[in-house]
Amino acid sequence: MRWLLYLRFFLLTAGTLLPFFWMVVILGHRRQRNFERIFFFLCLALTLFFGCSLLELNATLYYDVPPRGLLRFAWIFLCLGLWFLPALIIHLHDEYANLRGLLDARRSYFQRVLAAYSPVILLSPKLIAVLQPGSVMDFDHPTRILGPLYQVYLVAAMLVGAFWQSRFTKAAPDAEQKSFHLALMLVLACLAVVLPAMFLLSAYGKLPAAGWLAPGLFLLALLPFGLLISNVQRFNFLQIGRQRNLIYAVFGIFIALLYLSFVRRASLWLEPYLPPAASGALLLFLPVVFLEPLQRIVRQSLRKTAQNEVDRAQKLMGPINEKARSGNLGPLRVFAQGWIAEQLQLAEVSIELAGQGPGLTHISVGKSSSEEVFVMARSGNYLGRLRVRGFGSMISGETYAALELIAEQLPAAFDLCRLIEEKLQLERELAERERLALVGQMAASISHNLKNPLGSIKTILQVQMESPELPASLRQELQMVLEEINRLSARLNQLLQFSRPGVRAGSGAQSCELGQVVEIVANVLRHAAEERHIALQFARINGEAVATIGEEAANDILSNVLLNAIEAAPAGGHVCISLQPGERFCTVSVKDDGPGISTADQAKVLQPFFTTKARGTGLGLAIVDRRLQEAGGTLEIHSPVANGRGTEVRLHFRVAAKE
Ligand code: ADP
Ligand code: MG
Repeated sequence: MRWLLYLRFFLLTAGTLLPFFWMVVILGHRRQRNFERIFFFLCLALTLFFGCSLLELNATLYYDVPPRGLLRFAWIFLCLGLWFLPALIIHLHDEYANLRGLLDARRSYFQRVLAAYSPVILLSPKLIAVLQPGSVMDFDHPTRILGPLYQVYLVAAMLVGAFWQSRFTKAAPDAEQKSFHLALMLVLACLAVVLPAMFLLSAYGKLPAAGWLAPGLFLLALLPFGLLISNVQRFNFLQIGRQRNLIYAVFGIFIALLYLSFVRRASLWLEPYLPPAASGALLLFLPVVFLEPLQRIVRQSLRKTAQNEVDRAQKLMGPINEKARSGNLGPLRVFAQGWIAEQLQLAEVSIELAGQGPGLTHISVGKSSSEEVFVMARSGNYLGRLRVRGFGSMISGETYAALELIAEQLPAAFDLCRLIEEKLQLERELAERERLALVGQMAASISHNLKNPLGSIKTILQVQMESPELPASLRQELQMVLEEINRLSARLNQLLQFSRPGVRAGSGAQSCELGQVVEIVANVLRHAAEERHIALQFARINGEAVATIGEEAANDILSNVLLNAIEAAPAGGHVCISLQPGERFCTVSVKDDGPGISTADQAKVLQPFFTTKARGTGLGLAIVDRRLQEAGGTLEIHSPVANGRGTEVRLHFRVAAKE
């Protein structure tokens, strides 16, 4: 019966290692769901059972009388492992059914857990009795000691498992999973038949037969774990397959450990012929022979893994590139973040582009172990970074490689998006310009046709006013008509400014000295300001402020802004103009102490035809905005400035580059 003993020995070792292997894999798994946790405890229970049996076997082989403490230790943990086994089997199947959506929704999670564990609780006095010091320890038939009720419970758990497996078989999405569940169902059904047979045999004292059955039983129990190893790879069962190198590593370590124990045992066998140290050394160096073929296998599989990852990353980039073609940077970023997180099962992904989005200046220091930052750069230029956070555990090597690849390819996608965005923007602007050009032509032709007769009327009136015979009453009225004509021609001017493009085609690069233009405009408007008793101040700077803008356009801009300020300031008020040169922009600020612009209106003042004045055209600031944009400048409006009053308009003009 020596070989039966060795068989038992082998099966118990395998039974300890296989579930233990799964425990290690689950601990390294990056995303543990309830299912994985329950599976972990099931493995723990089995490891305890097999491990303690192995310990007892070792002890009885080694010692004539095994130490009592050791046996008690093994007995307690063996019983504990067995005790929770049925409940865990039921719970695991229940949870998997839940994941598959096969569960009756009427029963709550709590009810289901209670159903699985209530026998454990009800039978617990028996367990306590079994664990008492001085109680019988029967390592060959522990279930007999745990009592017939426990035996019924264990068989029932197998039946429940078999029932669920048959349902999983029916619901399986493909043939491979179907055969996997079918195999599990058969194993559980066999166990449900063999177990009672063994219980009965051992109860009636037919021990030898039971002794034969036990190894068969162990083999059956281990089958599912072996099946799992082959299937985890094949259809990414449990989503563990992704962490292939984890499985390789754990597997390699186990093989190495087994080999070491084999070396020790073999050198004992060889002792009559060879000193143990020599045989040990020989056996330790033997694997070197296999290194070359092993390396080849590993290299091949690693290359395949790498290839798969590259393919996966390429597939990952597909939809992102597709989205980039819509030419919308913001949505592209949101989409890419969500997509990458979903595909690589990451808790959080954020893409930060240089010069965009918050938090770029301070790179977070206290980064946790599961957080990784990938820098996006091209030819040494920093373009942004990709920050990811995994679920709990570390990010696996494959995912890391995929992320590196993505970080390399993302800038191209964003560039594409930006280009398309710019193109769309240009097209939109062109269409807008064409529309405005049409309106403008009409406005220009009307105002031009009105301007000439208006000029003639004005001249005639001015001549008439000079005549001394003109009665005083008539003179006053004529003066009013003249003012109305002035106003009318100012409005026509604005309409003309608005309809006319600031930069005429073929006019080339233009520039002017802003200080001079401000002075000219201020002089023209000084009269209007004095009429309203408004002090116009201009703080001139030393030196030149040459901006890349035509003089006419600068004049349009400044006169409109200044006019608004003069119109807004109260009688006796102030309008201050200041000019500040800078490296890339020089700024003209126009400040008044008028009523200011409400926040709601600030959003609208740039729109053409928006006005709050009874006689306004609403075109002034629209002209300003357009002229500035054409010259690459920007404007800011601040209101109120002080004491809840006043407006400051800051005009930033582009500075001509020095040669
Ligand atoms: P308009 O002067 O013909 O009304 P604008 O485009 O020049 O048209 O100005 C639009 C509106 O912006 C004005 O009606 C006014 O309400 C507001 N606004 C512009 N500048 C000032 C200012 N300096 N102070 C207060 N309100 C202003
Ligand atoms: Mg105006």
